[in-house]
Order: sequence, then C-alpha cells, then structure tokens
Amino acid sequence: MDADEFRVAAKQLTDYIADYIEGLRDRPVLPDVQPGYINALVPASAPETGEPWEKLFNDIEGVVMRGMTHWHSPRFHAYFPTANSYPAICGDMLSAAIACIGFTWNAAPSCTELEMKMMDWLAQMLALPEHFCFSSGQGGGVIQGTASESTLIALLCARVQLLKERGLQHKVTDADDEGNEAKYEVMSRLVAYTSSQAHSSVQKAAMLSATRIRLLPVDEANGLSLDADVLAKTIEQDRRKGLIPFIVIATLGTTNTCAFDNLQTIGPVCKDKAVFSKQENIWLHVDAAYAGSAFICPEYRQYMEGIEYADSFTMNPHKWLLVNFDVNAFWVKNKELIEKAFNVHPEYLKHENEGKIPDYRHWQIPLGRRFRSLKMWFVFRSYGVSGLQNHIRKQIELAHLFGDLLQKDDRFEMVDQIRMGLVCFRLKGNNAMNEELINSINKSGDIFLTPTKVKERFIIRFAVCARTTNEKDIHYSWNVIKKFADSVLAKWNS
Ligand SMILES: *Cc1c(COP(=O)(O)O)cnc(C)c1O
Repeated sequence: MDADEFRVAAKQLTDYIADYIEGLRDRPVLPDVQPGYINALVPASAPETGEPWEKLFNDIEGVVMRGMTHWHSPRFHAYFPTANSYPAICGDMLSAAIACIGFTWNAAPSCTELEMKMMDWLAQMLALPEHFCFSSGQGGGVIQGTASESTLIALLCARVQLLKERGLQHKVTDADDEGNEAKYEVMSRLVAYTSSQAHSSVQKAAMLSATRIRLLPVDEANGLSLDADVLAKTIEQDRRKGLIPFIVIATLGTTNTCAFDNLQTIGPVCKDKAVFSKQENIWLHVDAAYAGSAFICPEYRQYMEGIEYADSFTMNPHKWLLVNFDVNAFWVKNKELIEKAFNVHPEYLKHENEGKIPDYRHWQIPLGRRFRSLKMWFVFRSYGVSGLQNHIRKQIELAHLFGDLLQKDDRFEMVDQIRMGLVCFRLKGNNAMNEELINSINKSGDIFLTPTKVKERFIIRFAVCARTTNEKDIHYSWNVIKKFADSVLAKWNS
C-alpha cells in the first residue's frame, strides 16, 4: 500500500467506522458463533503474495464482525463499560502514524511531556491531592496499559520502600550475597491485604510477585466495604506472628457490586504510627478503575474522602472517561521512589538530559510505550470537563431510570442501592431461576448482561455502558428482561 492507496483506504475505513458505530443499535449485541468459527473463514497460512485493500476491506464484515461482541452497542450491559469516542479514535490514528517508542525523554520528548501534562490535568479534574501532580514536585502520574499493571507496580513499589526502610538493597547484585539473604528473608515475611471483593487483578499481582495476601471479609451491613477494624486486628495478629504487613489495596467501586471501601477508616490503620509504634507505614494503594471517572463530578467526591492517605491511586480513563483502551492512569505520591526502584541502566539508553525530567521506562514493566496521551488530549479538549461530566451524569441517570422500572415490578428485587452506572438485581426466588433468566437473555443475543455471586447469592448486573445509550434503549433492555422473566417464571410456577 503506497501513500495514495492509503489515502483511499483510510477514508473508506473512516466512513465504515462511523457507519459501524452509528449503526450498532441494529446489530445483535452477541455473535452467533462457536469456538473455532474462524477456521472456515481464514486460511491456515498467510498469503504468499500481497492482496489488494478491497479484498481486505470486504472481509471485515464476514470475518471480524461476524464473530464480535459489540461492546459499544447500547444493548451491552455486561461487565463495566469500555470507552469509545471519536476524538480518541483520532488520537489513536495519529499515534499509529507517529509510531514512536517513548521510553526516555530523548527518545520522544513530546510523548513524555504531553503525558505528564495530561496526568496533571486529569489529577486536577478528579480533585486528587496536589502531591500526585508533577507540578507539586513530589509525585506524578503515568499511563499504564491496565489497572492490573498499576496494582502490580504499586505492590512492587511498596516492597522496595519497605526494604529501603530496613536498609536493605533491593537491586539485583551478584557481589553481595549476605545482603541478599537478609532481603529474601524479609521478603518471605511480607503480607498484603485487600477485601474479598477486590478485583481478581489484586490476587494476580500477589501471585506474580510471590507475596502472601489476605482477602479480608467485608462488612455486609455497610455496603460490602472493607472493615477497618478487621483490617487492624489482622495486621496486629500478623505482626505478632513475625510477619510484615506492607501494603493495603483498597477499592473504590468494586467490580462485583461497585462497593466502596472507606479510606477515612482504612487510611489511619495504614499510617497511624501511634497505633503501631515503631512499625513501618503501610503503603495504601487505591484501585478506582471504574468509579474513579465519576470523581470529575464534585457530587461524587465524597466516595474518595480519605484519599490523602493513599500512596498510589489508579483509575481507568479507558473505562468510563471516553478515552479508548489502553489508557490506565496511575499516580504515585513519591515519584523518586518509583524512578529509582526499577532503574536498570544500560549504556544504550543513557542520554544527556537524564534526571531533568521523567524517563517513563522506569515507571512501568515494559521498555516500549506508545504515544497514548494523544487520545487523552484530544478527548479532554474536545469534550471539555463539562462535556465529560455530562457523560458521567447521564449514564448514572440512565441507571436510575432502569432502577425505577425494576422497582415497579414486584417480581424483581434490587440488591443494595444503585451505585454509579451499575444496578444489581435478581428475580425474587432461587439462584437457579436467576441463572436461567440471564442465560436465556444472553442466548437471544438481544442484550448482554453478566452475573456475579455475593455470599452464594446469584446476582444479575446491569451496567450502563455505551456512550450512545439513551432512555429508549433502557426501556428496550428492560422489556427484553421482562419478556424472558415471563417465560422463566411461567416454567417455574407450572
Ligand atoms: C476493571 C477493573 C480492573 C481491571 O482493569 P484492567 O485495566 O483491565 O486491568 C481492576 N479493578 C477494578 C475495580 C475494575 O473494575
């Protein structure tokens, strides 16, 4: 494909993209395919000679769309939303064209500096404490691929900080065997804490770093949030056993039910040296992957009260803030720690501007990184803060509309209150009925819902996801749910 062919192809694809997004309402949200469906459609090996664009373009529908779950259909109510907007798509196009690898400042100065600026913008939009901003001179933010990576990095940073506090060298050295022994002995006694409702990525981070983790029971009377008393007692018991508590991972907006941990009660347990005299501070990492976007609206900031206790904070603009995947935002209070913690310094990456400005390679697991702040810049400028606030408020309103419809039908019950854009509900009755309901709905491909289980209770989650979802769509989805409930109940009652 040469430049002239690219102009034609890209224009054709741009029209296709706009038609696809605007036409999503008319496609079944779930595809009707079985695993391995692609074998009949795509040959086993790559073509020997190049094919024309027209042939490629013609296969988009038959191969890709045929087997696609349409995440941006207004009938998609599963999981949590993933972001999609036109300015973000433009940002990704430009990023693909520049195709730089911004691992150091020198390697791509605007890639580093625009990212720093966007992370400061976003921290301000969310009203995070000043110390997370580069402008404060203390902390700073970075784009990671996913919240899962941020949580792993927070855990690794916390471990480095603890080793440093104990005067132990965390870096890999071959000379100092004795120091290494002491390091590994301490590492074997570390304990992390989170709630039973935390995202699976928290457990995974513990597995990946070979760290002991406690999944603490939650306070059911208090909206499934982590109980600070249970946390404090467990920490005390562990210390008595000779273990070393070093990090607590709190969640603002759990994936199951959008439950919020209370940072005002958890924070002091991590930081209050008067309670645990002569003990280290415990790192507090806050995972607000989904709900964090709502903090751009002042009326939701009460949910993050106590955020000043946090050492690191993460949320996903790629979930609810209209910036397409993959943009996870991760801030640390002390940037010096992260910059030094994983700093490996080969000759080929050295440059004369080191130390003046972040080299983001130290802030993440991979070396390479794309120019992802472009899509934040485009989205923040084209919507403005008020446009993004409208998006969040509209989606929460739609969740309440769904809740109202549900509550008028006494065959259903809502599980707890509506939190953000998520409604958890079930048919009054047993788990099997509810399982049958959701299975029959999803099998129809008309709308898409996902379930969860809390304390052995089967719950159906209804999340407002697509940017284009409107009132009519909510009524449509509700009618689909009612229709399938009619037949499930008819069967169970006969
Ligand atoms: C979605 C979610 C995650 C995982 O997000 P990724 O960016 O896909 O890693 C983590 N925590 C919570 C609370 C989530 O809702």
